[in-house]
Amino acid sequence: MNFKVHLSENQSLNLGPNSNHLLSVKREDLIHPYISGNKYRKLKYNLVQAKKEGRNTLLTFGGAFSNHIAAVAAVGKEFAFETIGVIRGEELVDKVEGNPTLKFAKSCGMQFKFVTREAFRNKISEEFIQNLRREFADFYLIPEGGTNELAIKGCEEILLEEDSKFDYICCSVGTGGTISGIINASKPHQKILGFPALKGDFLREEISKFAKNPNWKLITDYHFGGYAKINTELIGFMNEFKRDYNIPLDPVYTGKMMYGVMDLLSKGYFPEASKILVIHTGGLQGISGMNELLNKKQWPLIS
Ligand SMILES: *Cc1c(COP(=O)(O)O)cnc(C)c1O
Repeated sequence: MNFKVHLSENQSLNLGPNSNHLLSVKREDLIHPYISGNKYRKLKYNLVQAKKEGRNTLLTFGGAFSNHIAAVAAVGKEFAFETIGVIRGEELVDKVEGNPTLKFAKSCGMQFKFVTREAFRNKISEEFIQNLRREFADFYLIPEGGTNELAIKGCEEILLEEDSKFDYICCSVGTGGTISGIINASKPHQKILGFPALKGDFLREEISKFAKNPNWKLITDYHFGGYAKINTELIGFMNEFKRDYNIPLDPVYTGKMMYGVMDLLSKGYFPEASKILVIHTGGLQGISGMNELLNKKQWPLIS
């Protein structure tokens, strides 16, 4: 179950003559335009399992701009699975064409079921799932955000042997699946720093369920007010970063993490001559949806 992916490379950033740090970005965003970064890693073994179980349909959950929804729709098209997206927000039912993520998913053949926010909150209840099984017959269920044991197994393949030279590994955190895989694949001398893209204390516990090593820490100062919340300072940072290093960032995850890493660097957080690896988990498909929202607010756009 392999398809042509652009194997990710580490790209070092020139931090200027006053820095003796090594800062490299692992370009997982280049794996695929829609099955990008950690979503490719998280889906890989789930697809293998679905095939093994003889299931032809993938069902999953997500919000209107979800990278995970886009990725599941794209793998469905690539590997001949039917796909069903259970989407948060009934009001979106007639707004698919105006939403770049949903429009893309639909073009891949994904079928939607729009549910109220309340129903969406209860989506892992036995009753809700049973109703879905009645409605859609036999499907392979992938949780929201894609995190399960098989997803973590896939994320354990992000780090390569040659990455053991790094002292710090930084990554964005949503559900905690990706960082758990990275922690499990890391060496004891490495420190894994997670930058949550949302508020809330539940993540530490989530990660502890999956992570087999203690060498990690969450840096909770860079969520910018919560999930998918951004401000003009973050937009300015992302645009400057892209101009300076030719690396696009996404507004929900990697933009915030990179802002955090650069801020910590400027504050002297890392010891002299640290070797830092930043994981670019992808998510670039979300930029156009965010730009439509920014445009309505007449804010500056993400370039
Ligand atoms: C989904 C996503 C994350 C969060 O990954 P988790 O495994 O849920 O923590 C991080 N970055 C990007 C770009 C994502 O799309």
